[in-house]
Amino acid sequence: MVNLLDFDVDSLTAWFAQQGEKPFRARQLSRWMHRFGVDDFGQMTDVAKSLRAKLADLAEIRGPQPLRDNTAADGTRKWLLDMGNGNAVETVFIPETNRGTLCISSQVGCALECSFCSTGKQGFNRNLTTAEIIGQLWHANRMLGAVRQPGVDDSGERVVSNVVLMGMGEPLANFDNMTAALRLMLDDHAYGLSRRRVTVSTAGLVPAMDRLRDSVPVALAVSLHAATDALRDELVPINRKYPLRELMAACRRYLEKAPRDFITFEYVLLAGINDSDADAHAVLQLTRTIPCKFNLIPFNPFPGSGYRRPSPERVRRFQELLINADVVATVRKTRGDDIDAACGQLAGQVKDRTRRHAAQVGTARPLTRQSLPITLEVNA
Ligand code: SAH
Repeated sequence: MVNLLDFDVDSLTAWFAQQGEKPFRARQLSRWMHRFGVDDFGQMTDVAKSLRAKLADLAEIRGPQPLRDNTAADGTRKWLLDMGNGNAVETVFIPETNRGTLCISSQVGCALECSFCSTGKQGFNRNLTTAEIIGQLWHANRMLGAVRQPGVDDSGERVVSNVVLMGMGEPLANFDNMTAALRLMLDDHAYGLSRRRVTVSTAGLVPAMDRLRDSVPVALAVSLHAATDALRDELVPINRKYPLRELMAACRRYLEKAPRDFITFEYVLLAGINDSDADAHAVLQLTRTIPCKFNLIPFNPFPGSGYRRPSPERVRRFQELLINADVVATVRKTRGDDIDAACGQLAGQVKDRTRRHAAQVGTARPLTRQSLPITLEVNA
């Protein structure tokens, strides 16, 4: 059975052609699935009955299964989604006054092993499929009552107005599935989001940053975290392969086609590691030729991390140093902490297949608050 959520509009069109159906059918189906959130061919009233029956034989529209659904006092809502074989990922919706941001995952676990990241500590299981990535948005819209009604003017504000690929995993390491999902987010027959409202966050996979620029340039966030190769090699090991000089050059190239005229640099603040005045000056120096904004993330501790969060005064001082140099710098605020939905508090479930962490983690743990949390992040 093919899952139609696995196709972007072009590949759905190709699939329909294989079935001897016209291209407009694919656009029609796309609207039913993605705009109206329908998973039952029977409800697609403007599709011929014979085609509906044929589709029901050949295909399905299968979104993710929620294992949990929690809402925080501040309205932040978190779903734990079943990814099969004992794996699960989390998706978080963050409502704000003028927008609603959905933070979605791209992989079960992550292979990059950033030293301060709980997902990295859990190891890597697999890439999510296109259906599983776009399924997070599809599911959230349905759950939030945000699906559109056929025939009703839909020019109004969207409930999910922004999407950030800042959940579990490295989106650029799952390039094909992730970009197919991006195309659906942008497609007018699907979610119709503007490129500026979709953000991919990367630890710095330089060749894939160029590919993204050339194929689906959306807003880009880069997890910087250090201003020297010596420190970044330690915190973000992919830096050994793509050091800062190359990363900065890739950021500059990205800006040639980026929908926004700046790169967002994420910078986790780790007490005594990268949070001094000298670090702030080094960061300014490193990035001075790149139009950018900074999003400072005070470290969210998890058991056994070995790192500490700096004091609020330290965080403010670091921010101030950037702002004094005329660089926009925001501090990422904590949302949904009463349901463990804040950055660094999320607990998905990863059956590590790389076995890197067997010594530290032991056998796969049951899903509890104590299991190593997955960090899901929200763009400011
Ligand atoms: N792999 C991508 C997507 C992850 S986004 C990337 O690296 O950008 C998640 C963001 O949260 C990244 O900037 C990541 O470095 C940061 N992060 C990870 N663990 C954290 C923690 N414990 N506290 C605060 N931020 C963390």
